[in-house]
Amino acid sequence: MTHATLILECTEADLKKAGELIRAGELVVFPTETVYGLGANALDPKACRKIFQAKGRPTDNPLIVHLSSMEEILTYTRRVSDRHLKLMEQCMPGPVTFVLPKAPDIPDIVTAGLSTVAIRIPSLTEARRLISYAGVPIAAPSANRSGEPSPTTFEMAYHAMAGRVAAIIKGPMCEVGIESSVVRIEKDRLELLRPGFVTFETLTELGKDFGLEVIDLSQLPQAKPASPGTKYTHYKPKATVYLFSSLEDLFSPLIEIPSSTRILYMKQPQSEELLHRIVSMGIEIVVFENMSDYARHLFFQFHRADKEGITTILAYYPPPTGIGLALRNRLIKASGGRFV
Ligand code: AMP
Ligand code: MG
Repeated sequence: MTHATLILECTEADLKKAGELIRAGELVVFPTETVYGLGANALDPKACRKIFQAKGRPTDNPLIVHLSSMEEILTYTRRVSDRHLKLMEQCMPGPVTFVLPKAPDIPDIVTAGLSTVAIRIPSLTEARRLISYAGVPIAAPSANRSGEPSPTTFEMAYHAMAGRVAAIIKGPMCEVGIESSVVRIEKDRLELLRPGFVTFETLTELGKDFGLEVIDLSQLPQAKPASPGTKYTHYKPKATVYLFSSLEDLFSPLIEIPSSTRILYMKQPQSEELLHRIVSMGIEIVVFENMSDYARHLFFQFHRADKEGITTILAYYPPPTGIGLALRNRLIKASGGRFV
């Protein structure tokens, strides 16, 4: 189905118009601090079904429900204790999603039939304004076609969704650049299901304050990073992605770097000389300042490489600390676990 897609700005008038479209059962792409979302009225199963069609997303993959304030959490969930609410208050609004027992109002299509619902309150003000204007919770996955990298700029969101949705709100480049951390709350435990910008270390500290054990379940299905497998590909650009742990790996005599290659790297102490050698070999290299800079620009660089006809991306695989855990998760899926 093709649509004439309206381009809206982040003005109050346009956010209001977008809110009305959501309430009328239409799809609206909107910016958040993590990635651009593909939103629909979370209480309207017909509207939510359109999300799966526009993305080509399998219906067994549940959606995150976006709210504008903490007060709304109790309306759409059940049996949330004061302790859990106080803990969530410490990181909401923000780039973290909590999985909680769902209220009956949330349709099965949103939760893929699960008894839980994933809840997030975005910290980007414009996203919360949109949700308030809609007057309903907004179910929204990332605004990419299923399997492709998530959009982190208006241009990327437009490229993926123009003609498939009623409107796209033109916002800033996303600050975080990768999807939210997903955390399931059990009685005495927090379970990290998907790593994101809110790190395992931060959650562990928070858990301590509230007497909750924190465990990382996000790495279980992936086995060893080195094991390849197409079933893990996701967030995938058209270019083939290979991972490397150190610049030295690229100078192995066994490696032949194809001509249209781009290297994504993160600044390390003592890497200057090797960087110069790469540049003098005529290979393009993008150097990120730190982990958050890497996370913010990863999907954008994937998109840029595809647009410029780059066929091979060699991406630095960072250590598993802090945001490194989330970067590794996205990189393994984008590369299918291939290392140079
Ligand atoms: P996306 O919207 O594309 O960022 O994906 C949403 C993520 O949240 C997926 O990894 C889902 O599996 C996860 N998710 C959504 N709802 C639930 C739920 N009720 N239980 C566990 N995970 C969920
Ligand atoms: Mg997604």
